[in-house]
Amino acid sequence: MTMESEFSHFYKRTQQQRLSILQQTRGLTDEQRAILEAHEAHADAPQLIENTIAAYQLPEGVAVNFVVNGRDYVVPMVTEEPSVIAAASNGAKQLARAGGMTATVSSRLLTGQIVLSDVKVYASIDDWVALHQTELLETAAAAHPSIVKRGGGPKLVRTRDLGEGFVSIDLSVDVRAAMGANMMNTMLEAVAKVIQTKLHHTTLFSILSNAGDQSLATASCSIPIAQLAQEDAEAQLTATKMAQASQIAQLDPMRAVTHNKGIMNGVDAVVVAMGNDWRAIESAAHAYAARDGQYRGLSQWQVNGDQLVGTLTLPLPVGTVGGATTVLPLVAVNQKIAGIQSPEELMALIVSVGLAQNFAAIKALVTTGIQQGHMRMQLRSLAMSVGAQDHEIDDVVTQLKTHQDPTQTDAQQILTQMRK
Ligand code: NDP
Repeated sequence: MTMESEFSHFYKRTQQQRLSILQQTRGLTDEQRAILEAHEAHADAPQLIENTIAAYQLPEGVAVNFVVNGRDYVVPMVTEEPSVIAAASNGAKQLARAGGMTATVSSRLLTGQIVLSDVKVYASIDDWVALHQTELLETAAAAHPSIVKRGGGPKLVRTRDLGEGFVSIDLSVDVRAAMGANMMNTMLEAVAKVIQTKLHHTTLFSILSNAGDQSLATASCSIPIAQLAQEDAEAQLTATKMAQASQIAQLDPMRAVTHNKGIMNGVDAVVVAMGNDWRAIESAAHAYAARDGQYRGLSQWQVNGDQLVGTLTLPLPVGTVGGATTVLPLVAVNQKIAGIQSPEELMALIVSVGLAQNFAAIKALVTTGIQQGHMRMQLRSLAMSVGAQDHEIDDVVTQLKTHQDPTQTDAQQILTQMRK
């Protein structure tokens, strides 16, 4: 049988039938099938994706000690990476002692684009769009009227000359509490039809932009330098080194990538816990990091008198309704844990997590080094990778600590010895 016939109409099969097909064709053992069955997808999961076979679980934890805009937060985070939640909580604790973080949201609009090709004279398109602005906005609103009833809707249409005969007609929409991808795409298609029939120009495609540069959130904090270490001289040195580490991320794209990865460790974990599209947030963040043509660190730390001042701005076009937020039952629970009342509050919290995460990472980087904090969790992972059970892990970790550069073979030997 060919793969095509084995998997023909796979999407119509029940979960059990799919497992049987996979077991037969991919040589899964009974134990492997049982693992898939034990990770049975939630009843709503098939609404989200296609050809579902299981629910792939990632651990969820909560970061604590967050104070943002004077409010205390407990932050649900979903991640497979050890130390991320510990570092976020630790960073937030140090910042809370200095009064916490302040976060603001400058605007919350989603932009979509209708792209035209083979444009001979850009000005003719620009003039036509300017003249028909009201009609185009009304067409967009009529395509998804419920968002207007909710107090949002299309706000602005403008054009951009992309060069080489391409023009983008950009529509900005207030999507209220949603991320807005689907409502935006519906509106764009309606506007594209008007452009085709009245402007008599074919459109190449219409889709939202994930740039998110009209959904920016900024977190900032100011921490007394004296708080960074017990000794004054050491605290001053730590602050100077942290500011220098931040400066290097502005100068060197190779370092900026890692700097930003550390920020996204926290950001993504909250975005996933809140049922949002983390690929969208990742793309937006990295595009924003390169907005002046060079990829740079997203956050900045500076010494200002006796304070270390940190800021982070991120495009965060997230939603608290719609998409997976409605389908995955954990999302409502996580919103409750975090006490999120609005999408703006979620944006403020996410950017603050990014800043606290970055504070902890940079401080560790220029003082104890990044491995020290990671080591305990790494050793736990090492112990688990050789099959140590819950009651054995601590003992294996304690013994691994005595090794210079512990390996899996060391962990295996320790475990074998312990079990004798
Ligand atoms: P939905 O299609 O689920 O639309 C939002 C829903 O929320 C609507 O049904 C709306 O109701 C309802 N709603 C309830 N209360 C509110 C409120 N206060 N404000 C706004 N809406 C409200 O989701 P989105 O349009 O947000 O699209 C997000 C999804 O699209 C994500 O899953 C994403 O992964 C996916 N996607 C992403 C793309 C990308 O990023 N490039 C491309 C395509 C899809 P009503 O209908 O009454 O207005």
